[in-house]
Amino acid sequence: MQYNSTRDNSICVNAADAIKTGLSKEGGLFVPKSIPKVELSQIDALKDKTYNERAFFVLGKFLTDFTDDELWNCINSAYTKAKFETNAIAPVYELNDSTYVLELWHGPTCAFKDMALQILPHLLTTSMKKTDESNEVVILVATSGDTGKAALEGFKDVNGTRIIVFYPDNGVSEIQKRQMVTQEGNNVSVAAVKGNFDDAQNGVKKIFTDNEYKELLNRNGFSLSSANSINWGRLVPQIVYYFSAYADLIKAGKIVCGDKVNIVVPTGNFGNILASYYAMRMGLPVARFICASNENNVLTDFINTGTYNKNREFHTTISPSMDILISSNLERFLYDLADNNDALIKDWMEKLSIDGSYTVSDDVFKKMQDMFYGGFSDDAETMAAIKSVAADYDYVMDTHTAVAKSVYDKYVAKTADKTKTIIASTASPFKFNQSVLIALKDFDYVVGKDEFTMLDELSDIGNMPIPKSLAELKDKPVNFEIVCDKDEMRQIVSDFLAVD
Ligand SMILES: *Cc1c(COP(=O)(O)O)cnc(C)c1O
Repeated sequence: MQYNSTRDNSICVNAADAIKTGLSKEGGLFVPKSIPKVELSQIDALKDKTYNERAFFVLGKFLTDFTDDELWNCINSAYTKAKFETNAIAPVYELNDSTYVLELWHGPTCAFKDMALQILPHLLTTSMKKTDESNEVVILVATSGDTGKAALEGFKDVNGTRIIVFYPDNGVSEIQKRQMVTQEGNNVSVAAVKGNFDDAQNGVKKIFTDNEYKELLNRNGFSLSSANSINWGRLVPQIVYYFSAYADLIKAGKIVCGDKVNIVVPTGNFGNILASYYAMRMGLPVARFICASNENNVLTDFINTGTYNKNREFHTTISPSMDILISSNLERFLYDLADNNDALIKDWMEKLSIDGSYTVSDDVFKKMQDMFYGGFSDDAETMAAIKSVAADYDYVMDTHTAVAKSVYDKYVAKTADKTKTIIASTASPFKFNQSVLIALKDFDYVVGKDEFTMLDELSDIGNMPIPKSLAELKDKPVNFEIVCDKDEMRQIVSDFLAVD
């Protein structure tokens, strides 16, 4: 399987190169040259397989330059009961007889980013070996909260790699911040950026496209790579769990193989929902994709109008991992919808970078409308969804998953669609304990309470155990106190690597 760049498809590399480089040199994203197909009978057969076997089946379709041994090694290093606290890895919870919650947060950092970031370091180090890379790989991450910690956990102490994470100073939850600044490992660094997520992401992108700087790093024995969801190695593991959830529903007798399901995804950078779209393109029976946004509803407007316009107020919400105005992975989706027309994608992305907006062609707009529903939920609606799900089903959702549930409810109210539906649940409620407690109780209830008291209370109220990694945070020392301006990010990288 070869990979092309979305902005210049004369560029053609294998999977190992795509994963090692992260981003193509002219700024495009790597995409498979063609999307591999699977038969319904093969999907049906997944029902009797373990998560790791399902992963082997899906990853093998894309990472054709990896040997079976290499793939198994990556998969079995990533998805273990020790790390995910459940053999199912990504279990499906039945909310009612038509709504199923795909829990993607049983990994070490309690958010769905672990699904990809536990395996990425192994895919990456394997890719380095395969391409005879002698440089040390430096992972640069801009995070809206969850990616950063998940990447730090995935890469810490992995030989031949270093990792530096930038997070928006006031754009992450207290727990998220604490998870990052207490990070351990001998190859890690963490810095806060004064600004929002887009500032951090743009700063990282700038470093990535600064060829002179990359030359300097190269001379010092370093190659940059990315753990953001623009890296193909981040995206491909996410395709697996949509097949896995579907197989679980077959196994449980909730659907028969071939039945179409809806998929609802709380969306930020468009990575997770894109993975579900690729699953459908491979052959997974999907009726409709429901793209759920918070008040940063640039994608809702895009799906409804065909115009992407990031020129709008940025909102800091209770679902901070979705506080994003530039959804990078949309580029891959549009490339596919536009039948791999790289010139068109290049044009739209240039317009986005110059004017902050672009309008897709009628053809692309129509295809998108046929498959996607876009909606958003404001904080009050999200809170209400947490409360009503807890009351109706005795099940506590985090703020991101609740955005998805709220948008899904609006969708059903509007369409009366009774298709069985999988909601991607992207974080443990404990990770956003304050907002969840406010939703379940009220604001006064949490005033003056510290994070750890709130963890205990949420555990009592929801009758759920506190994830071990969060409970342990209390006693960990702060290792990182760097705060920088967005134009100082390059210097922070240089300092960390000791290059001038
Ligand atoms: C990253 C994240 C999202 C958004 O996922 P994308 O792939 O960026 O669309 C949603 N919820 C949580 C909890 C996240 O960490």
